Amino acid sequence: MAYKITEACMMCGVCAEQCPNGAIREGDDRYVIDPAKCTECVGFYERSRCAVNCAQGACVPDPEHVESAEELNRKYAELHGQKGS
Ligand code: SF4
Repeated sequence: MAYKITEACMMCGVCAEQCPNGAIREGDDRYVIDPAKCTECVGFYERSRCAVNCAQGACVPDPEHVESAEELNRKYAELHGQKGS
């Protein structure tokens, strides 16, 4: 499932620097995750980098974008041209 960023975001930008997929951009009042690019960090890290590094706890799973491990691996392959882990 893709992650999303809540209103707790203080717009520090650490999440965008950490995302291996370039899925995070600056929005009007918070940073925003593109669910089409978020793989929960599958293929790169064991845990979601944005969530691990957000001091505000603002990066959380988005229940509106539930995906299986297979779907996340497929998305990783589409983004990077190879199979994820
Ligand atoms: Fe990027 Fe990973 Fe956060 Fe998804 S979970 S937005 S891939 S850092």
